[in-house]
Amino acid sequence: MNRYCSNCGKTCEHIEIVKQKKSPYGKSRKEQFKAFISGFISGAAVGGALASLELIDRYVQCTQCRHLTLENKGEEFQ
Ligand SMILES: [Zn+2]
Repeated sequence: MNRYCSNCGKTCEHIEIVKQKKSPYGKSRKEQFKAFISGFISGAAVGGALASLELIDRYVQCTQCRHLTLENKGEEFQ
């Protein structure tokens, strides 16, 4: 996708990267998966996937300079 890169100072191609936030659940992958699922289910219960979105950070990365920009707007899910 084309996004403005503040590092390049111009619009260039970016890729999307999703990272899981730290959670109160355990550090093992299995525990984190359970945390994600429980977040997803509780999110569905209260209406929508917003609660599960709180478990992840969305970034876009410039393919020119690899500059990361946090983008937690979640517009694709609204
Ligand atoms: Zn850039």
